[in-house]
Amino acid sequence: MARPKGKPGKVETDSSAEEKGNGIVAPEEPSWDNIKHFTPREFTCKCDGYCDHPDVISLGTVAKLDRIRDLIGKPVEVISGTRCERHNNKVAGRVRSAHLAKDGCSRAVDVRCPDAAYRFAFLTAALPLFNRIGIGKDFIHVDDDPELPPGMIWTY
Ligand SMILES: [Zn+2]
Ligand SMILES: [Zn+2]
Repeated sequence: MARPKGKPGKVETDSSAEEKGNGIVAPEEPSWDNIKHFTPREFTCKCDGYCDHPDVISLGTVAKLDRIRDLIGKPVEVISGTRCERHNNKVAGRVRSAHLAKDGCSRAVDVRCPDAAYRFAFLTAALPLFNRIGIGKDFIHVDDDPELPPGMIWTY
């Protein structure tokens, strides 16, 4: 899909949004209109009826994944995004998993990783963007949960 040229609206960086005072940080979230490769439903909880599948994935997290998708030029299949408590328990997720919505927002995605070449391409693209990465046999977890320790790559 070609990147639209001359799209109206804000184009320039609005990083100053985070510096507005009073400790109230306006989340610098892009719009789904600017996400090229994903839809909200891909990130909703995949449980079977425990929750009402609210759309609470961080758009900042999705925007990073969208960027990775552009960089690697290969499909990115989301296998887990947001999880409700019960679903997280069922899949043996961590108690403070970034897949859980905290303050109404979840910040983790697991994507399918079919082979070593894909893993190399994905991690090369992901490392400048995500500072928390988990590597499974056939999937990769990325999150940017500010409540969890940064600068971590772990295995399962
Ligand atoms: Zn659920
Ligand atoms: Zn995960």
